[in-house]
Amino acid sequence: MSHTESVGRTDFDRLMIPCYAPDGFIPVRGEGSRVWDQHGRELIDFAGGIAVNALGHAHPSLVRALVEQAGKLWHVSNLYTNEPALRLASKLVAATFAERVFFANSGAEANEAAFKLARRHGLETAGAHKHEIVAALDSFHGRTLFTVSVAGQPKYSAGFGPPIGGIRHVRFNDIGALEAAVSANTCAIVLEPVLGESGVLPAERAYLERARELCDEHGALLVFDEVQTGMGRVGELFAYQRYGVTPDVLTSAKALGGGFPIAAMLTRADLAGHLGVGSHGSTYGGNPLACAVAEAVLDIIATPAVLAGVRERHERFSTELRRIGAQTGLFEQVRGLGLLLGGVLGEAWKGRARDVMRTCEEEGLMVLQAGPDVIRLAPSLVIDAADIDEGMRRLERAARRLRDEAGRACDPDTVLITGVA
Ligand SMILES: *Cc1c(COP(=O)(O)O)cnc(C)c1O
Repeated sequence: MSHTESVGRTDFDRLMIPCYAPDGFIPVRGEGSRVWDQHGRELIDFAGGIAVNALGHAHPSLVRALVEQAGKLWHVSNLYTNEPALRLASKLVAATFAERVFFANSGAEANEAAFKLARRHGLETAGAHKHEIVAALDSFHGRTLFTVSVAGQPKYSAGFGPPIGGIRHVRFNDIGALEAAVSANTCAIVLEPVLGESGVLPAERAYLERARELCDEHGALLVFDEVQTGMGRVGELFAYQRYGVTPDVLTSAKALGGGFPIAAMLTRADLAGHLGVGSHGSTYGGNPLACAVAEAVLDIIATPAVLAGVRERHERFSTELRRIGAQTGLFEQVRGLGLLLGGVLGEAWKGRARDVMRTCEEEGLMVLQAGPDVIRLAPSLVIDAADIDEGMRRLERAARRLRDEAGRACDPDTVLITGVA
């Protein structure tokens, strides 16, 4: 197949491993919060590549950083260090509690590193018994065997042979359950500050504070998976800063590269020593191209103007979502922090997030789901007011259409006609 030969959506089914079910259109170009498909149809992007495109599509500063680095040096492996990686690490350290950084390529890999660090730390400070990881039910940490085991959602972990053992699962936001699960055998408590994939459910501050205390009491590490909540998404650079609860280990990915694959595990100097030379690694981790782009992303996001802009946009988004919810019955609740928003579907729409997503797409709007009952939005942190308003008009059209279709389905005449057809 030559580079110019055309491909279409049906080729996906012919060529790809069927672990995804992508939408019917194929995006070919993006600019800011607008995306165009193969046929020139324009869509508004409230999905942000699942909280990745934090600065929208083709942001000029990111394009410049990528092109500049592309002409200099792409890859050297970790047999050598490189300037972009050192600059990015220095800026991440300056902006957070962390003193040491490990780079990886995806959220799952950053979490894998965090969990391995926690187990090494437990082993080296207390002994082999200190290996248990306490994690939240319905959490999400990636798709490697270790990360699906920690997340404890059978739909992701079952059917791949024995899962990784030594993991205890507790109900999210349930302080009593957390207290009961943590012991001298615990090496880490692992939490998402906002449950992202499972419904956009923010942690209560008291819950995270109690997790911090329990870790201190038992010599365990508090690990925050900020793959989705980090890099400005909640209106601070990281959600831990908004909650005022500092973890021992933090993982970042998704928005860190603004669309270029990169991830990081951040921790303190005293903990970093538990992953000594040869104990862990990655061929691509800290790749100069990825780090150059991430540095440009961080330079823009870690500014008071952008972070304040996220909080302002939160108000605009949630006001509109509540209005559409009230007028059409589509949403019964709107929740989330910053620009990670969840519209909980109303009674008539329970379990139908996929249908809602599809209808939005037909109206020219890209949105996400977070489980079957929640529509999730994770737009660009710098989305224009005009794009928000136009996206909301499209969402409202989708909501009205769904409501009208549901109304017709209940209308006996329509049922009769449908039956004849
Ligand atoms: C997306 C996500 C991950 C996994 O990241 P990948 O880059 O897909 O490996 C892990 N944790 C959370 C909270 C996420 O949202």
